Amino acid sequence: MAKSSDTAAEVVELDVSLSPRVNSVKPSKTVAITDQATALAEAGVPVIRLAAGEPDFDTPAVIAEAGINAIREGYTRYSPNAGTQELRAAICKKLKEENGLSYAPDQVVVSNGAKQSIIQAVLAVCSPGDEVVIPAPFWVSYPEMARLADAEPVIVPTSISENFLMDPKVLQSKLTEKSRLLILCSPSNPTGSVYPRELLEEIAKIVAKHPRLLVLSDEIYEHIIYEPSKHTSFASLPGMWERTLTVNGFSKAFAMTGWRLGYIAGPKHFVSACNKIQSQSTSGASSISQKAAVAALGLGYAGGEAVATMVKAFRERRDVLVKSFGEIKGVKISEPQGAFYLFIDFSSYYGSVVEGFGEIVNSESLCRYLLDKAQVKNKSCYLYQWFLCLYCASMVSYLFLV
Ligand code: PMP
Repeated sequence: MAKSSDTAAEVVELDVSLSPRVNSVKPSKTVAITDQATALAEAGVPVIRLAAGEPDFDTPAVIAEAGINAIREGYTRYSPNAGTQELRAAICKKLKEENGLSYAPDQVVVSNGAKQSIIQAVLAVCSPGDEVVIPAPFWVSYPEMARLADAEPVIVPTSISENFLMDPKVLQSKLTEKSRLLILCSPSNPTGSVYPRELLEEIAKIVAKHPRLLVLSDEIYEHIIYEPSKHTSFASLPGMWERTLTVNGFSKAFAMTGWRLGYIAGPKHFVSACNKIQSQSTSGASSISQKAAVAALGLGYAGGEAVATMVKAFRERRDVLVKSFGEIKGVKISEPQGAFYLFIDFSSYYGSVVEGFGEIVNSESLCRYLLDKAQVKNKSCYLYQWFLCLYCASMVSYLFLV
């Protein structure tokens, strides 16, 4: 027979409500689509997964060997919270030589991916009600990270005719005394746009007028850039070092997505705050990955030959796709100067009514239509791939094509 306390437990209804913070955040679409693609692949559907920004190359052998050696040599214990001294010194050297930025190792925090570096920075500097200014189109995580910090994302529109580069006047019109953080991403996910130095200088002049405004410069695609475009680190512009948090990582250029390693560099006051948050969540990043990252930075300027080979392949794929999509009637594209994405405007197809399908209302229904059509033509493999990419933002990454 149940004791009275057991009986009471049976009738008490558990409160399963979630925190308002969780309810205000949308789950990551790219993670959701990647998981969906994995499920389809496991069900035997020949899906090529393009939803996540992930190079199809293997991690260069020298880097992988360094990781394997780290395990063999017993380098498998907790690492310092901010990252090993060896790696942070190597990052400082890289930032000095490649980006013209001076940081000491205590102005760098290494995290489990640049994604963690960014969320920690947003949490460290934003107060409830602050505004996080984000040029569109943007990496889907930025606004949600702002919401996680109880801040408000403020979107700055751009247009395809301007290569999706932000017009400084439009930026100016969006700034208020609540503006706390401007997130710049160049080369950009998802457009591949690269901000020229002169435009960044104009942006810097506007930023300089706002005493509360910091800049998070996400430079994770820095090395994946196509000549003659050049990368400029925002912190290297006059007066910007003090207010810029520079984020970079190893996932993209070095094909190390699974190693989970990124970093932030900035004035000690802000970076120490990020370090404090990390000390109460994940602590130091993987000791093995950090040894591999030291080898990655040892490959030479901009990743040397190993990275140059991958960038050359990305460029060839870009050229094929820009040409092919350019030949499709009604499709608009802006040629990417970096990263490995094409952001395609299919909107001239919206409103079309297709027999046996119905109206193509938006990018999502266009993708469903392509998927249906592909099944008829038995090319489901390709169109699933389209579907998975276009589903979220009319974005096609050209990682696996050609
Ligand atoms: N920034 C941008 C613009 C990205 O596209 C990504 C990955 N998709 C990240 C940051 C995070 O990269 P990671 O956590 O793998 O270092």
